[in-house]
Amino acid sequence: MDKRFVYADNAATTPVAAEVLNKMLPYYTGEFGNPSAGFYSLGQRAKAAIEEARQNVAAVIGAEAKEIIFTGSGTEADNMALRGFMHSKQAKGRRRLITTAIEHHAILHTADALRDEGFNVVILPVDNNGVVDLVALENAINEDTALVSIMTANNEIGTIQPLREIADICHKKGVFFHTDAVQAFGHIPINVKELGIDMLSLSGHKINAPKGIGALYVRSGIALQSYITGGGQEKGRRAGTENVAGIVALGEAARLKGENMEREMAYVRSLSRRLQEQVVARIPQCALTGHPTERLPGNSSFVFAAIEGETLIMDLNMAGICAATGSACSTASLDPSHVLLGIGLSHERAHGSLRLTLDVMNTEDDVDYIVENLEKILERRRKMSPVWEE
Ligand SMILES: *Cc1c(COP(=O)(O)O)cnc(C)c1O
Repeated sequence: MDKRFVYADNAATTPVAAEVLNKMLPYYTGEFGNPSAGFYSLGQRAKAAIEEARQNVAAVIGAEAKEIIFTGSGTEADNMALRGFMHSKQAKGRRRLITTAIEHHAILHTADALRDEGFNVVILPVDNNGVVDLVALENAINEDTALVSIMTANNEIGTIQPLREIADICHKKGVFFHTDAVQAFGHIPINVKELGIDMLSLSGHKINAPKGIGALYVRSGIALQSYITGGGQEKGRRAGTENVAGIVALGEAARLKGENMEREMAYVRSLSRRLQEQVVARIPQCALTGHPTERLPGNSSFVFAAIEGETLIMDLNMAGICAATGSACSTASLDPSHVLLGIGLSHERAHGSLRLTLDVMNTEDDVDYIVENLEKILERRRKMSPVWEE
């Protein structure tokens, strides 16, 4: 098989779509106006472009345009939700924040920082499939609880959380619910009104818009403490001259995702199914991680016995394949990924993890190329491994 280039790390980032790039480029050149310069048309057009993008982002999640705040990243949206809410009047002095063991670091490290400030942070466990323990959630909510933050879908194992049940539990107990939907937005249907979501984070570069643009949905009636102060942009909720081109790109990417979601979901899911079936059938001693059915269409994550994830990624790279692992070396610490440990894998098992995330630009040939190379690499590495037993 000829060497190819196969990008299978779409959970890390995605390329900017051609339509998206075309739509954003004029805002770097001819349409460079400051949206706050409202007395002439150049500025007015920039402002109008932002509002159109806001409408497009809102429409994908069933929100109203005024409920969308543009940010500099998904990470910033997560920070804004957690810090902004815990410090807001809405929190009514309540000090407890509840989240889960498998959140992205944008949530977990922000929760750590809030704990250092004196807030009470509770980390919920998840089951072996990565689904949050709803009984533990219910038990953790007390009089002092202000906010629950649980991701829509996990970036490593793809598991989708039961958002409706979670929101119901939160609202029954009078607490607010934020979800980090960075991996899910534009990839699976989410309706914030139907689900009962109070705040939702999303990011551009996971849906074929550029890096460095994100948004936070904040339900009408919730006033966050703003922590970037300055001009009155975003209705005073996030100061700083807007990233007009980035916002336009996010709006266009969101619109395209909304329009094509059903077709794209079916296509990407069929690619992932092909990948999962072939890997499980052809490679001995491997297991799919994450939920067997409630998972993101593009996510296939595995653990292989007697394999070091880091080595596997380098071998795949030699074959032109981009993939990810949650093994220890890749996490810049001595421990493997907190997500893999969170679903109950031992350090040893988590060591042999591989995440392949496919998207609309991938093909069946990509899948077959991945499987063929994976099979060869694993056979060779395992032969060299002192711990491998057939
Ligand atoms: C990528 C990601 C983020 C961070 O978004 P950035 O725009 O890269 O800051 C947050 N949460 C999840 C689940 C992600 O996958």
